[in-house]
Amino acid sequence: MTCDQIYPILGALIDRELSPADDFAVQTHLEACKACQAQYVTLVELRAALEKQPRFSASDDLRRRIEAQLPSEPQEGKLRIGWIFVFVLGLGVAALTFMLFGRPRLAGVPIETEIVTSHIRSLMPGHLIDVVSSDRHTVKPWFAGKADIAPPTWDFKNDGFELAGGRMDYIAGRATPVLTYRVRKHWINLFVFPDSLESQIATENRSGFHIVSWAQDGLALAAVSDADATAVAKFVKLYRKASAEGENH
Ligand SMILES: [Zn+2]
Repeated sequence: MTCDQIYPILGALIDRELSPADDFAVQTHLEACKACQAQYVTLVELRAALEKQPRFSASDDLRRRIEAQLPSEPQEGKLRIGWIFVFVLGLGVAALTFMLFGRPRLAGVPIETEIVTSHIRSLMPGHLIDVVSSDRHTVKPWFAGKADIAPPTWDFKNDGFELAGGRMDYIAGRATPVLTYRVRKHWINLFVFPDSLESQIATENRSGFHIVSWAQDGLALAAVSDADATAVAKFVKLYRKASAEGENH
């Protein structure tokens, strides 16, 4: 498939509406095409931002005034309401697009952007985990020979954060080990860097994703998730405690 064929159906991919054959063809293309990957990430970010917007419903007064101005013929009335809806939706999308992409950006891609992009890409079917295991004694050795960092690997199943596995990713120009945890219906990706990068990763909220970063035992760690901030903070607390205690069981 070509980029021109991919663009119009990226939304359907995200909504899992494609046939298995098309789904496979689009994903194969995305693996190799940076331009379409970028478009995909943009769409996912936009959707995440839209989902987090508060919802307003029209007051009865406003509803009555709009209805009073509509002609009585049902067919035409429906058409007009349709266009008013499209117009209001368009305004909302335009405002969000500005909020997301109209902000000035520093030269170069901030590492937080790479982390969020990687997190979003990992949520594509088949991209989340290279080694699927909830056993940390399986996950940790898997990284040997692939990364020059051995990520401290713990499971917090009893606290609601289940180790799901790990993968290798490419962040800030280096091969980076990533641990993946499941918390309810959300995923937490934990990126493990050398501590020289610690000062470059901000703890922040970016496009609706929470990033928490910290340094520990000569490593810089960054957890990212679309789970709520409280859950991410709780995960980080558990992970820091387990690493500090070097818990062995
Ligand atoms: Zn493409």
